[in-house]
Amino acid sequence: MVILQVENLSVRYQQRAAVSDVTFGLRRGEVLALVGPNGSGKSSLVRAISGALSPFSGRVLLAGQDVQRLRPAQRARQMAVVPQNALIPPAFTALETVLFGRTPYLNFLGQLSASDEQIARDSLARVEALTLAERRMGELSGGEQQRVLLARALAQQTPILLLDEPTTHLDLKHQVNLLTLTRGLARRDGLAVLIVLHDLNLAAQYADRIALLDEGRLLALGAPTSVLTSEMLSAVYDVPLSVLAHPTQNHPLIAA
Ligand code: ADP
Ligand code: MG
Repeated sequence: MVILQVENLSVRYQQRAAVSDVTFGLRRGEVLALVGPNGSGKSSLVRAISGALSPFSGRVLLAGQDVQRLRPAQRARQMAVVPQNALIPPAFTALETVLFGRTPYLNFLGQLSASDEQIARDSLARVEALTLAERRMGELSGGEQQRVLLARALAQQTPILLLDEPTTHLDLKHQVNLLTLTRGLARRDGLAVLIVLHDLNLAAQYADRIALLDEGRLLALGAPTSVLTSEMLSAVYDVPLSVLAHPTQNHPLIAA
């Protein structure tokens, strides 16, 4: 079932088009990977979907409602975002940072409850960062910060997750753990996950569907085997790429 519908969405900066006429639906229970070269419009698309950026034309519907018309707290109860270049206040601890994810649920006095702190600690535990709870963000490594930001998104307890290159600073173990966690959230808890990934092999392995952006346009959307073809990828990435059958698994393997 489609929970978020992107309709003919275009984003422009001054006169330059960054996203052009993109249409797709994000379904409950799926991981949809958004891939494409640098500058192809992935982050702009994510920002427009999250409501952080107003589209030039088109719209994003959340359960039938235009996200531009929702109040920020309403949006934040539906969609949690891990942006690509988040500004992180360095003086807050990891736990305090994750508690910001509870902001959309504060009572009318703006107070956090004991259950908010428990949810924040559980979220840190899910990204293997509970031991970082009392550390200041400014003292964490890039990968540690990234896991805390994912925990903040999880603490929002939303049906939709928008993750913009959340694996960038992570080592291989944490990349795999993050993607496994993400897939579990989709499979077990029915979340709808849109995740920008650079690594096409990780996208092939963990995504149910892949959306390929090129110069702001959605060139292909479908199962990994149908989108990740050598013709498509060589054209889009402008280098020869081979797509092989994976020796042990049921998804393609991409080699430069
Ligand atoms: P990606 O995430 O795929 O690398 P982006 O969405 O960040 O791509 O960028 C798409 C295009 O829009 C690029 O040409 C980029 O230079 C441009 N762009 C992105 N953000 C801005 C901005 N704030 N102002 C002007 N141009 C921007
Ligand atoms: Mg980007």
